Amino acid sequence: MNTGTTQNNSALIDPFGRRIEYVRLSLTDKCNLRCFYCMPKGFTDFEQPENWLTFDEIERVIKAFTELGVARVRLTGGEPLVRKNIASLAQQLTALPGLSDLSLSTNATLLDKQADALKQAGLSRINVSLDSLKPEVFKNITGGELQPVLDGLMAAKKVGMSPIKINMVAMKGINDDEFEDMVNFCLQHGFTLRFIETMPMGATGDDATNHYLDLQQVKKQLAEKLDLIPGVMPGGGPARYMQIKNTDLRIGFITPISQHFCETCNRVRLSVDGTLYLCLGQDDKVELQPLLRQGISDSALKTVLINAIGLKPEKHEFKDKPEQVVRLMSMTGG
Ligand code: SAM
Ligand code: SF4
Repeated sequence: MNTGTTQNNSALIDPFGRRIEYVRLSLTDKCNLRCFYCMPKGFTDFEQPENWLTFDEIERVIKAFTELGVARVRLTGGEPLVRKNIASLAQQLTALPGLSDLSLSTNATLLDKQADALKQAGLSRINVSLDSLKPEVFKNITGGELQPVLDGLMAAKKVGMSPIKINMVAMKGINDDEFEDMVNFCLQHGFTLRFIETMPMGATGDDATNHYLDLQQVKKQLAEKLDLIPGVMPGGGPARYMQIKNTDLRIGFITPISQHFCETCNRVRLSVDGTLYLCLGQDDKVELQPLLRQGISDSALKTVLINAIGLKPEKHEFKDKPEQVVRLMSMTGG
């Protein structure tokens, strides 16, 4: 990885003038949890392993992207750590000269045993989903146990991963009494906290909508107890940050529904089967896997990527057409 500028940093400009410099890479659509807003209970209709992009195929696509100006990649899923040898893929990707930032989104249930190898492979920026600190509420949301997540987080902290960001999906009637507890937990451990609004995706759309909570309300609730001041966070992501006065704690608010941020969208998503999705909430896509397996050349692959960016839609329509997104978040790469 290097932190210098890339050779061709203006190649990926979409029709709305947005520069694409970030790829979210789904390494699997499988997960060992079943968060009710993300994956339906009992869901098993997963992609067949022969359709998964191999690590070498992934490296080829990401290399082409970096040569076109992409500098940041996030490993996600599904749960990325259920796929074997992710540290070895991380090593392949951090070796790419154009990549300056490799990060991971995980539920942390399997992080305890993998944190050290991932850190050694050059991956230290992680986002961990954690919606509750109460074991019974955690179980109700995810179907799993809280303790392995806490163990994974402590292992990540111990090996020096940083920053560690907690993603908490704020849900009416589920965890809306825990926002302050989560603030204190993050203060205690030096984690960043980000609240996320539920988005209606695929078969879990109704559950997400039923518990939707406008984050402006969460901000108001916290401001009654805490001295919040506007904060900054480098990275150009969708979160708007506040800081608690006289602390290092930054609290991000990701508001895809109440205040969408499509005008600054800088990302595309590559699914486990090599489908390049141009928007989380729309169906515009290009299938790269057949091209890779038919032996496309590097330069033709780059042309395909440039043309794909031309298909990027202006915005998602989660609010106006919630029924429109038929894919699950775990398929697209959340
Ligand atoms: N398994 C990993 C994890 O949970 O962090 C990575 C994949 S997960 C799909 C990525 C993020 O998407 C998580 O923070 C999760 O809370 C969020 N997510 C999934 N479904 C969502 C939904 N319907 N609305 C809002 N956020 C959602
Ligand atoms: Fe799994 Fe992450 Fe989806 Fe939860 S949010 S079901 S942990 S992929």
